[in-house]
Amino acid sequence: MSTIPACPHCAMENTYPDGDNYVCPDCAHEWPMNAAASVDEADARVVKDANGNPLADGDAVVLIKDLKVKGSSITLKMGTKVKSIRLVGGDHEVDCKMDAGNFMLKAAYLKKV
Ligand SMILES: [Zn+2]
Repeated sequence: MSTIPACPHCAMENTYPDGDNYVCPDCAHEWPMNAAASVDEADARVVKDANGNPLADGDAVVLIKDLKVKGSSITLKMGTKVKSIRLVGGDHEVDCKMDAGNFMLKAAYLKKV
């Protein structure tokens, strides 16, 4: 019972499943069961910078703090610009091409410019 979501149209909770759809008897709205799940997935893929701005492939960013690169003596300096980022999945979600090399960075350490 609690797995049936409230109606996205009128927010009433008398909804019930009907085949592959949920149905709301209060406003007669019907919507597919898997819609909610796919919306959540799309949201999860939005990568946001330190200010909460969504990042996209090709965006230019700057580092907001010095970052030590694991397993090397390289430190990426705060204020370093990355001209064109590429978003990837995983923990470090931003692929950055820099003079010093190619690094996977966390979006929380970047700011869109
Ligand atoms: Zn409704």
